[in-house]
Amino acid sequence: MAKIIAVANQKGGVGKTTTAMNLGLGLAEEGKKVLLVDSDPQGSLTICMGYREPDRIEESLFELLTMTANDEDISDGYGIIKHSENVDIIPANISLSSAEVSLASAFCRESIMKAYMEQIRNVYDYVIIDCMPSLGILTVNALTCADSVLIPCQAAYLPVKGLQQLIKTIYTVKRQLNKELKIEGILLTMVDGRTTFAKDIVNEVNDVYGKTVQVFPVEIPLSVRAAETSAVAKSIYDYDPKGKAAHAYLSLTKEVLAHGC
Ligand code: ATP
Ligand code: MG
Repeated sequence: MAKIIAVANQKGGVGKTTTAMNLGLGLAEEGKKVLLVDSDPQGSLTICMGYREPDRIEESLFELLTMTANDEDISDGYGIIKHSENVDIIPANISLSSAEVSLASAFCRESIMKAYMEQIRNVYDYVIIDCMPSLGILTVNALTCADSVLIPCQAAYLPVKGLQQLIKTIYTVKRQLNKELKIEGILLTMVDGRTTFAKDIVNEVNDVYGKTVQVFPVEIPLSVRAAETSAVAKSIYDYDPKGKAAHAYLSLTKEVLAHGC
């Protein structure tokens, strides 16, 4: 039975997609069977995984959610792309943007992704959901079906301020929709180790949240090579295996594995 991890933060551009991809591929390298789920109409994860024209993909998360909401039968493997031996992906594209509206009137609208995941989670060890930068119905669906949420947070002033709203939403979902939801941890990303400002931010996150929420001891460094992986459709482990970002994402993978299912 898969552990489902939602990678979420309503702040844009903080490293959610990069983290979802490299954590998922890292877990696959460790021999785990992984499903990556793109839950963002921008289709960034789909693109980063090498599917350059997501809008031409006809079977995606949108169709899966719509069919689940309509109580239609979904055939085995529908909407799932086999990417490599241990990694599958449910892609997303612009069609998913209408889900915010169409799901709003659906029966049990917060639990549709959960209902779908129940059907397939026995096939995988880990399901990693890359959320869009909002706290709308799609992200609430991801939090409702997840066992835990991993929060990438860019080591900068405004992203850290936005954490409070996110953590409040997570606790609301936990109280009302998913009692088992845990916070896997806050992951500081794009940490520029050369500046004292970045170190101050890291210390502030540890001071403010460290007592109640796990802040991962590993930080993802600011790295041009990490930024380039989005364009080359390769994991950081393939693209720059000896680099500091690859090293950091490998440590994150090991920590997530150590947390268990
Ligand atoms: P969105 O909110 O739009 O979904 P996101 O939170 O998923 O964004 P990413 O797409 O992962 O964020 O990253 C934002 C940008 O920063 C991308 O161009 C990415 O290549 C780059 N980036 C990601 N991680 C790093 C890093 N460690 N160092 C430098 N650049 C990075
Ligand atoms: Mg993204």
